[in-house]
Amino acid sequence: MSAAARQSSEFERVFRLQKANQYAIGNTGWRTRREKIRRLRHAIEVDFRDAIREACLKDLGKAPAETDLTEVFPVTSEAKHASRHIRKWLRPERVATPLSLFGSTSRIKYEPKGVCLIISPWNFPFNLTFGPLISAIAAGNCVILKPSEMTPNCASVMRDIVGELFDENEAAIFEGGVEVSTALLELPFNHIFFTGAPSVGKIVMTAAAKNLASVTLELGGKSPTIVDETANIKLAARMIAWGKFGNNGQICIAPDYVFVHESKHDELAEALSRQLVEFYGAEPETSESYARIVNQRHFDRIIGYIEDAVKKGAKLIAGGKGDREKHFIEPTLIEDVPVDSELMTNEIFGPVLPLFPYRNLNEPIEFIESREKPLALYIYSKNGRNIDRIVDNTRAGGTCINNNDVHFFNSNLPFGGVNNSGIGKGHGHFGFKEFSNARGVLKQVLPSALQLMMPPYNDFKRKLVELTVKWF
Ligand code: NAD
Repeated sequence: MSAAARQSSEFERVFRLQKANQYAIGNTGWRTRREKIRRLRHAIEVDFRDAIREACLKDLGKAPAETDLTEVFPVTSEAKHASRHIRKWLRPERVATPLSLFGSTSRIKYEPKGVCLIISPWNFPFNLTFGPLISAIAAGNCVILKPSEMTPNCASVMRDIVGELFDENEAAIFEGGVEVSTALLELPFNHIFFTGAPSVGKIVMTAAAKNLASVTLELGGKSPTIVDETANIKLAARMIAWGKFGNNGQICIAPDYVFVHESKHDELAEALSRQLVEFYGAEPETSESYARIVNQRHFDRIIGYIEDAVKKGAKLIAGGKGDREKHFIEPTLIEDVPVDSELMTNEIFGPVLPLFPYRNLNEPIEFIESREKPLALYIYSKNGRNIDRIVDNTRAGGTCINNNDVHFFNSNLPFGGVNNSGIGKGHGHFGFKEFSNARGVLKQVLPSALQLMMPPYNDFKRKLVELTVKWF
């Protein structure tokens, strides 16, 4: 038997175990599920905290404090939120019954989807693997996880955590790359929760279609930011610099590019440059707070985008250079970027921020509307009319006003994209519902009035049907 065949049969073995166990897991009550979530939280917050920090430092050059804020905290806060609300989420929801169905009651039972697959990316390995896992557990599912092969140290810590907390017939993790994903996608999962690139999302959805598995696709794209003439520029620069250059720009919801009113362009460019020095010093390659590009392939991709833009007439405001061996690219601000350059036709996913001056608010609105719907859109403004105009005339997965990225941290908000940036929503109750089937249950308690309208259709019955159509 070849190695690939052996691996596939191992996936199938665990999948079958989970299939056989799904009712046992699905019929657990809120207390049991809350306890599992509590144990996961404890593992991340306490037992494996140092291992997580170390793995993120090795794989992404990420400072421990940034790991705590962007990997540990989102998972622990999602766990706390789920623990606080799970009892209510699991309670069957009574809904009204129309008069035409007199004599019956109706409720919605949120039942688990069954056996689910979670495929996650490398940019926030723990956050984007364990966040969905909490929703899946809360909903009572069995789960197979496939973290990214690009952050192997993180994947190996996740394997230890999952192995310690769960039997494989409830949750299991398989490490590896595209071949592992492809083999797993052959299996008839009930739900697939994928986080990654839109191009791969299409592959996942095609595979899911073969089994009519439902999907949640958390994808990416270019998230625009608009800074209007009324904005607090100092605040905008601080927040944009943080949201764009944290994790070295490898954030799905990072501001991808900025439209700034022409009267504020120079002020914003200067404020951003100053802010970057304040965050990372005059020599960011020596800063322990500045993360690194995940690998040389992505380094080449991003440097290629900068070179392509400069060749086509773009001007560097700050940065632009890198060190391939060290996976380091300077925090880069760039202007006059042609919209057909690679920097503007691809998601940047790196520490490069193009600035575009505009004169009339129609310009950014029309530009954004001519592109794929973004995962996030940010607005810096003190003018309520401008804010409403932008929100009403664009579409995006999520939006922050006078801030960026932080909507991710609110478990009360749905998180996800729209069309090219994603399908379905995660976090909190939205994540729980994504991993659940909303089963409509109608219970007949008194004889049904519909019995009066059953064949044969005599005059009396026809009249009754007519009255029903008219009045109910
Ligand atoms: P990716 O799509 O390349 O990989 C994601 C996962 O899919 C990995 O586990 C990988 O092994 C697997 N994979 C890759 N190619 C595959 C294929 N052909 N068939 C099956 N599986 C495959 O994404 P990435 O490079 O890890 O992450 C970057 C992308 O993810 C960006 O587009 C970013 O915007 C997006 N992202 C979105 C969110 C979100 O919440 N919406 C969060 C983080 C990242």
